[in-house]
Amino acid sequence: MVNEHYDFIVCGAGPAGSVIAARLAEDKQVNVLLIEAGGTDEVPEVMTPAQWPLNLGSERDWAFVAQPNAHLNGRSIPLNMGKVLGGGSSINVMVWARGHKNDWNYFAEASGDPAWRYESVLDIYRRIENWQGASDPVRRGTGGPVHVESAANPQPIAQAMIEAANSMGIPRFESPNGEMMEGRGGAAINDLIIQNGRRSSIFRSYVYPLLNQPNLSVLTHTIVSKLIFDGRSVIGVEVIQDGRRNQYYASEEVILSLGAINTPKVLLQSGIRTG
Ligand SMILES: Cc1cc2nc3c(=O)[nH]c(=O)nc-3n(C[C@H](O)[C@H](O)[C@H](O)COP(=O)(O)OP(=O)(O)OC[C@H]3O[C@@H](n4cnc5c(N)ncnc54)[C@H](O)[C@@H]3O)c2cc1C
Repeated sequence: MVNEHYDFIVCGAGPAGSVIAARLAEDKQVNVLLIEAGGTDEVPEVMTPAQWPLNLGSERDWAFVAQPNAHLNGRSIPLNMGKVLGGGSSINVMVWARGHKNDWNYFAEASGDPAWRYESVLDIYRRIENWQGASDPVRRGTGGPVHVESAANPQPIAQAMIEAANSMGIPRFESPNGEMMEGRGGAAINDLIIQNGRRSSIFRSYVYPLLNQPNLSVLTHTIVSKLIFDGRSVIGVEVIQDGRRNQYYASEEVILSLGAINTPKVLLQSGIRTG
């Protein structure tokens, strides 16, 4: 059941929107609407990990294309972005790749905010992960919503690559996401967000388990076209559904998590620009 009025409206069901909508909906007193332009993720191309390339250029891809680049012999490079529940996490390569300690500490220094420091981010990583590999309670979480496992049956060439790196003095690690992200470098086979042989997108990890909660509504095939204002405050969104314009209103906040291209696009369409 979809109403016109909610406490929070989250636009875009990619990784960012899925996490925000689910965390908000944990409070059963709060009504959340999650709006997504794409449709279901329950298709073999999304759920069967080896089929991931079949999503590129399909109806689950916004299929943006860069301007022709003189430095690339005039070619226009495809900029694939997911258009489906889960966004990019439903069409991507499923690699679980955490940031390096030095990068997080650099962000903390640059922003002047210690919340970006590796130790605080490490605490968040531990809460997010449900790591299936060797126990490392300092660096890895096991009770979180995101199922992370080592790649099953890596190709022999991947193993050979790690051995070659090792023979040149580059240390080998069981996972790239633990100790390796604190040291000077190394080689490891990727961790993946695959569970029981199926893609485990961020939508699946966060939103799917809450879908029977009455305080969380998910609208698919609905395009957010612009923000609705009352003075300088955003109070809702205008959407296009089945070729018709509709409005939804939020008493608390509207969150735009439409990806790196469509978020600024909707801001521009709403008359918001910097400079
Ligand atoms: C082919 C490919 C491979 C990748 N491989 C990896 C990998 O292995 N590991 C990794 O960590 N990252 C990978 N990435 C990157 C990762 O998927 C993205 O960084 C991530 O999905 C970004 O999340 P997001 O929530 O910011 O945006 P998105 O995932 O882009 O989500 C935005 C969502 O908003 C929806 N939306 C957009 N505009 C509108 C609108 N107007 N109205 C309604 N809904 C709208 C979109 O349909 C989408 O579902 C890959 C990306 C691609 C494309």
